[in-house]
Amino acid sequence: MRILLSNDDGFTAEGIVQLARVLSRRHEVWIAAPDSNRSGVSNALTLDRPLYATEMGPQRWQLNGTPADCVHIALNCLLPHRPDLVVSGINNGENMGDDTLYSGTVAAAMEGYLMGLPAIAFSLAARGWPHLDVAAEMAVQFVDRWFEGVRVHELLNVNFPALPATQHRGLKATRLGRRHAAEPVLPGRDPQGRPVYWIGPPGKVRSADDTTDFAAVAAGYTSVTPLHADLTRIEAIEALSRRLGPGTASR
Ligand code: MN
Repeated sequence: MRILLSNDDGFTAEGIVQLARVLSRRHEVWIAAPDSNRSGVSNALTLDRPLYATEMGPQRWQLNGTPADCVHIALNCLLPHRPDLVVSGINNGENMGDDTLYSGTVAAAMEGYLMGLPAIAFSLAARGWPHLDVAAEMAVQFVDRWFEGVRVHELLNVNFPALPATQHRGLKATRLGRRHAAEPVLPGRDPQGRPVYWIGPPGKVRSADDTTDFAAVAAGYTSVTPLHADLTRIEAIEALSRRLGPGTASR
């Protein structure tokens, strides 16, 4: 398979380097990744400055942009052929529950999905990539098992527990869990005395019943959540239409 690989931790991050290495054993891998850590930028596209794609080797580029920029430019300009699959990761840390809305890892995959390709976002649910080699082997098995010869247009968010191979319990289809509101913003002062603010860490897990990604990973499973990009709350349209009153047609 021809695979476009990206991430949000940057071109030189351990997670993408390792994943490229194992995917390349059986697949044709093309990389377009940010030149610095762009975690948390979500689906942002850069519209106020030009983007440079610096060739780092055969089929390898780093860009001075976001994860979504990288996939967008790669698919439109850099790759000579359309890939079969877009892969993002392996991220340094989990992307589960509400966090997926902010995730650059998920966004890179989603950009591929929005451009009509199947896409997978891989994350390792611990900082510093413990047991990255295990996660990378599982990622390549996942790609082989689910996508070889199949052309399904879907977006999957995969989170690996950070465990040795013997403690992995297999794959589990999940939904996104929920978190409480983020921890408070941390205010401070810069050396010039101007006020500065640090966004607080994510809130504690709120909804983590058996069906969620949080629960699956905590129990030693690899969580696989099918995502879509349409945020519409379909079941609310009828009630909203009634509240808006007569004369406002729901089309
Ligand atoms: Mn990241």
